[in-house]
Amino acid sequence: MLFLEQNMKKMTFGGPLVVHAHKVYTLKVFALFCELKEESEFYRALEVVEGIHYVAEHYDFSRVQRWCKGKYEVQVHQGGSKYTCECGLFEHFGLPCSHILRVSTLFFA
Ligand SMILES: [Zn+2]
Repeated sequence: MLFLEQNMKKMTFGGPLVVHAHKVYTLKVFALFCELKEESEFYRALEVVEGIHYVAEHYDFSRVQRWCKGKYEVQVHQGGSKYTCECGLFEHFGLPCSHILRVSTLFFA
């Protein structure tokens, strides 16, 4: 199970989402996006309601809890074309946060 998960991560990283991001964002923003994408690799997506509601939980949940929440609720809209996360990064900066990126890989796979 863990092995499969790691393989899937390799396949999704640098996939169509990153290519798309490179086209729509400026270089500076793209660098930030890549950081967020890397950070998203540290989260696992837990399904709450299929296709609608997910929780992005840090793999090292008990450790990161000291400085961040470590667990974020992500809502999926329109079958994966729109996302909202409780951390609010996307709403405030227009950049999908690592939690949204992690959950979105389920829909791009
Ligand atoms: Zn978030």
